[in-house]
Amino acid sequence: MSFLNSKYNNLVPYKPGEQLKANNLIKLNTNENPYPPSKMVIEAIQVESGKLNRYSDPDCTELTNALAKHYNLQSNQVFIGNGSDEVLSFIFQGLTEDGIYYPDITYGFYKVYQDFYQLKGGEVPLNQDLKLVLNDYPIEGTILFANPNAPTAYAIDPKEILSFAKERKNQLIVVDEAYADFSTSSIVPFLNEVDNILVVATYSKSRQLAGGRLGYALGNSSVIADLQKLRFSVNPYNVNSMSLAAGVASLADQAYVDKTIEKIIFSREWTKDKLRSLGFIVTESQTNFVFAEHESIAAEHIFLELRKKNILIRWFNQERIKNFIRISIGSQDEMISLISAIEEIVLDKEE
Ligand SMILES: *Cc1c(COP(=O)(O)O)cnc(C)c1O
Repeated sequence: MSFLNSKYNNLVPYKPGEQLKANNLIKLNTNENPYPPSKMVIEAIQVESGKLNRYSDPDCTELTNALAKHYNLQSNQVFIGNGSDEVLSFIFQGLTEDGIYYPDITYGFYKVYQDFYQLKGGEVPLNQDLKLVLNDYPIEGTILFANPNAPTAYAIDPKEILSFAKERKNQLIVVDEAYADFSTSSIVPFLNEVDNILVVATYSKSRQLAGGRLGYALGNSSVIADLQKLRFSVNPYNVNSMSLAAGVASLADQAYVDKTIEKIIFSREWTKDKLRSLGFIVTESQTNFVFAEHESIAAEHIFLELRKKNILIRWFNQERIKNFIRISIGSQDEMISLISAIEEIVLDKEE
């Protein structure tokens, strides 16, 4: 028996990376932050938990103001959602009159949302080197890409995005900056130079709050007002009060966030070097993960062998990237274990 509206019969839902909870598991498969939230963040959550009898602030006032200050924007340029997935969902639902276009190799949720909302548009292939070419995008419809992109880890220069947006004044350009804190390529400082760029960002990767479900959008105040209209028509209390407080505290303890970002970048560069010396080709990562292809060993084999050793990474059974593995950057100790496990796999193959 099914009561599902038949328009959803062919829906293929997003498949999240496994969230196994076994002990001694090294989890490098969903680009989470290996470090816990700061003490200030944990305290803020505890204080707020005692007041859960009340609804959360539907205007998200404190966090909106804090994010505006952090990015040097006005408060009416900030929109807050239950993870950036929810922010993206509102964008797909309401800001895509003429369809939506996004790269063929990118965050898997884009296609799911396009199907879910039954929108025109679709995938625009990355070039042969797996890089984004803005001019390949149609001259109508919303354009969406992640910068840096996932899982390729490549970033394009924000100046390039800015001049593209100036040429495409009638199109909304959505830049998903989930990984921008690990790069030097944020478009946010240029946001006020154009009206048609909307940035989507998250607390899940650089701010240790994947489980808190906190994301946001930054942009022109009238685009943000449209998003608010959608949100207040669906769920005005979309973000719980503990996560709102955690978001404010995370910004107040920026030194902690910066320190952990530095550690992750250090481990990323260390991991890249080690992988290269083991025969991998590794893309120039500007994220908290690396994307790598071995010169002779199949990616699926490495993925399965690591799994036997209790190390989870991500392998995408997808045409153009079948021979790549994506490895989230964990703590330095975890990366040391990963590299020695890969060393064993490479040696085994050579025998
Ligand atoms: C992780 C990720 C998201 C989702 O982030 P949440 O805020 O946890 O929903 C969105 N876009 C990209 C490119 C991501 O990698």
